[in-house]
Amino acid sequence: MSLTPLLEQYHRIKQKYQDTILLFQVGDFYEMFYDDAKIGAKVLGLTLTARSHGKYNRVPLAGIPLKSLDTYLSRLVGAGFKVAICEQTEAPGLAKLIKRNVIEVITPGTAMRPALLEENKNQYLLAITENKNSIFGFAFCDISTGEFYLTELAENNLLEEIQKLDPKEIIIPQSKVTVFDNLRLGRVLTRLDDYYFSYDFAYEKLKNHFGVANLAGFGVESFPLGIAAAGAILYYLEETMGGQKNTLPHIQKISVYCATDYLLIDQTTRKNLELTERLNPISSTDTKTGTLLSILAKTKTPVGTRLLRKWLLRPLLDIPKIRERQQAVEELMNNSYLAKELDTILATIGDIERIASRVGCERANARDLIALKNFLKAAPKLKNLLADTTSELLKECYNRIFDFTPIVTRIENTLVFEPPLSLTEGGLIRTGCSPELDEIRQMCHNAKNYIQTLQEKERKATGIPNLRVNYNSVFGYYIEVTKSYLHLVPKHYLRKQTVANAERFITPELKEYEAKVLNAEARSQTLEYEIFIELRREVARSVLKILEFSGIVAQLDVLLSLALVAKENNYVKPEINDGNEIIIKDSRHPVVERLLTEPFITNDVFLSNDDHQILLITGPNMAGKSTYLRQVALIVIMAQMGSFVPARQAKIGIVDKIFTRIGASDDLARGVSTFLAEMNETAYILNNATTRSLIILDEVGRGTATYDGLAIAWAVVEYLHTNSSGVYPKTLFATHYHELTDITNFLPRVKNYNFAVKESGDSIIFLRKLVAGKSDKSYGIAVAKLAGLPKAVIERAKAVLREFEKGEKISVQSIAPEKITTTSEQNQTNKIAENLIEELAKIDLNQITPLMALNILAELKQKIQDSKGEGSIQ
Ligand code: ATP
Repeated sequence: MSLTPLLEQYHRIKQKYQDTILLFQVGDFYEMFYDDAKIGAKVLGLTLTARSHGKYNRVPLAGIPLKSLDTYLSRLVGAGFKVAICEQTEAPGLAKLIKRNVIEVITPGTAMRPALLEENKNQYLLAITENKNSIFGFAFCDISTGEFYLTELAENNLLEEIQKLDPKEIIIPQSKVTVFDNLRLGRVLTRLDDYYFSYDFAYEKLKNHFGVANLAGFGVESFPLGIAAAGAILYYLEETMGGQKNTLPHIQKISVYCATDYLLIDQTTRKNLELTERLNPISSTDTKTGTLLSILAKTKTPVGTRLLRKWLLRPLLDIPKIRERQQAVEELMNNSYLAKELDTILATIGDIERIASRVGCERANARDLIALKNFLKAAPKLKNLLADTTSELLKECYNRIFDFTPIVTRIENTLVFEPPLSLTEGGLIRTGCSPELDEIRQMCHNAKNYIQTLQEKERKATGIPNLRVNYNSVFGYYIEVTKSYLHLVPKHYLRKQTVANAERFITPELKEYEAKVLNAEARSQTLEYEIFIELRREVARSVLKILEFSGIVAQLDVLLSLALVAKENNYVKPEINDGNEIIIKDSRHPVVERLLTEPFITNDVFLSNDDHQILLITGPNMAGKSTYLRQVALIVIMAQMGSFVPARQAKIGIVDKIFTRIGASDDLARGVSTFLAEMNETAYILNNATTRSLIILDEVGRGTATYDGLAIAWAVVEYLHTNSSGVYPKTLFATHYHELTDITNFLPRVKNYNFAVKESGDSIIFLRKLVAGKSDKSYGIAVAKLAGLPKAVIERAKAVLREFEKGEKISVQSIAPEKITTTSEQNQTNKIAENLIEELAKIDLNQITPLMALNILAELKQKIQDSKGEGSIQ
């Protein structure tokens, strides 16, 4: 089958980029062919066409304009595809095939273009490998920020860490495809040859990248599988960056990621507590409102917002570190001047981290450098502001802020104020920066000026009053003469083009000056580009310092955000200790209190491994049990991330893991029923909790028959209280099984609490107050009434309940409602009533004695009896 040269070229290139969508530049469009075109048309909503190439082929085709690349790229990459951009690398000429090369491969985990990055979230690329003992090497990197970590994990922690990291792309060894397919990671999976995951390859790769003799300095030597995964990451990043070496200078270190340094919040808990996402989002576009993150986020910079998210998802275990954060928050709360000034300075700093990374990868343009320079100008202001701070963390920030004045001045002296996006079309470099450039520009300027004077000169010489010297990109400079003056055109004018009402000419002199202009322009553009590249390299040498500064900015931003939120919402500083109690006075739910229109009712918390290990919480539906349970967990998380908390007073013995089992969550897609999912979660909790953990159980066993459910709930509480492994986690257990409350008679560390309600007739008023003791009634029917169930259902439910309570056997018969009246029966009754009213109206009460009244009554009663048989009172 013969192909056109263009398609042959396409096939040759596509061969090397099989697993990507190849965007193939043809003029002003990127074209996709064959299956790529079909995918592109579907994902991007483009029209799929087919064009004949040569005699035989009708090739499916879809195209996007060059200028819309970013928009379409973000959709393709967002949908999980890898994209290779193949551009024309020489100017179009006549009758020959233009050279084309892939200039960039973009994958979900390696994108650097700002349009493809989520501002508030890291973009992690993860590599995982596995050994024979099911230990997993785990390494991840965010190329847009330079973070790079490795560790090793057991299988049961693997999924958890993946969920927490939320990577955009995962690299795995080719031979382990089935292992990872079985894990159903649900992410973009990229396979690499096993060779790139070999320890020797990886060790060499890392050593060379960091320019070190061994990796001991990074403390990673004892994680060979982690190293293997990290090597694969570096290899993959270099490959996607065009296979060039030294393109990742901003990745300057690798550290051990220590999952055990942080309070473990598993994925279910993260979801249940709505830390960063709502369970039921307000709308598809607003998934954040109503989350804890949305309450805490008063950050000003993208780096700050990303760090806040990390602090929230990874609260600390180290008490001194938590206290350091608290002190800084406190200082910012108490020093309004400091807070206000800091706020103002932070507001001038954009995404410094990602720009620095682009500088490091040689992807930054002139506007990036201008923005970077403006951000760096904040450094001395921050340093100045923090000079007198007293808290350790703020002082440390102060000490670490570097002086960037030389870089700022260098950028200011080199670039114009508002440079264009393109690096090759000139207009970037300031006058006075390079004498050579200034001279070329002067020449260009002079030549242009001379051409301008030519118009006058030629008008005089020819006597053509409307002769004009003009320029267009096809012919360059030309002289235009309208038809009426053509007879005056001198002989040395050479005709070049005829247009509607005029002719266009060139002259040798015009061409000579045009050459001067074009030459000078080309030279100045090249020179400008070179000057820019040199500047960018110079800035790149400071990329580490800039990234360190960006880290300081992020930290200041988060601390300030926590201080502002604490002040605004009246939070207190919790006392963190390594004791075994959680005592909170007047605690509030940080999110619910902000959403309610009525006042939030505060409640105390007292948990102690000694005597208040498990709180069994009963109370009607809607009483506030779930809210309370969650608020305890949220307060612990806030406290350990260094935030202040919504309460009057709080003492928190450090918690190592938080588990929640809340509500019913079907995982039908994985073939797990509601009840099985509930039991899976419960099993996971019982198997993983420690005495330092906090467990929130909002109903256990509700998804099955009452007695089975109660039995399971009972056994779970017993196990949490007494078990052979000696693990006794603090637990809050909300339940509707009133029978369960009797368990406190046998287990001393289990205590009953309930949410008080006030009865008013057959309605109830929620007091939202937690009180000691069990609740004696469930008020389910009262709540059902509040929900607006039909009256008949409510009445019937009450009747059924009475039967249950009497312990009688329930059958439809024994509690069947009164015989239902039909329409004709109803009509008859109405008639009787009407007659009765008529009879009663006739009676003159002044004329009758009591005895007569009694007789009339007896008479009426008889008439009713009779007429029931006949249909009316006669
Ligand atoms: P169910 O048993 O049906 O799950 P519940 O006892 O868990 O109910 P919640 O869902 O916690 O009840 O609370 C119901 C509503 O009551 C909440 O949506 C909130 O609006 C309000 N509420 C809960 N606690 C308080 C409080 N302490 N102060 C004010 N309002 C509250």
